Amino acid sequence: MRATVVPHGRLTGRRYGATVTTPDLVLFDADGTEVVFDASEARDLLTLTGGLESATVSACPQCRSRVLAVVALADMLADAPPFARSVDLVELADDAPTLHVYVRDVGTQCAHREWRDPGAEEWTDVVVELAGPSILR
Ligand SMILES: [Zn+2]
Repeated sequence: MRATVVPHGRLTGRRYGATVTTPDLVLFDADGTEVVFDASEARDLLTLTGGLESATVSACPQCRSRVLAVVALADMLADAPPFARSVDLVELADDAPTLHVYVRDVGTQCAHREWRDPGAEEWTDVVVELAGPSILR
């Protein structure tokens, strides 16, 4: 009789992009590491983090795209109840190569025309560098 139980992986159910039917919100760092949320997951994220406001450095006034401060994001996640992909987000914040991580609202068609500050420039630079100008829409 075997006394040991074979661990069968992390019960938190780490999920990757393949299980996301329709990406709605993408959080990513300057290295291109992404955590992808579908619409209901994005709603949970924004509800449980107060719309990410306390970590927001700069945001598009017309969609949910924004620049987040890594340290504030990590603090906020430490205070928030667990939600879909919160573990992945903590990892994203921990491993981010710069002080900022970025949110891209892929569920909204937005040219970010009203978003004009240094944060907007930084966001655009990172997105273009990672994916090329064609990703901006
Ligand atoms: Zn926008």
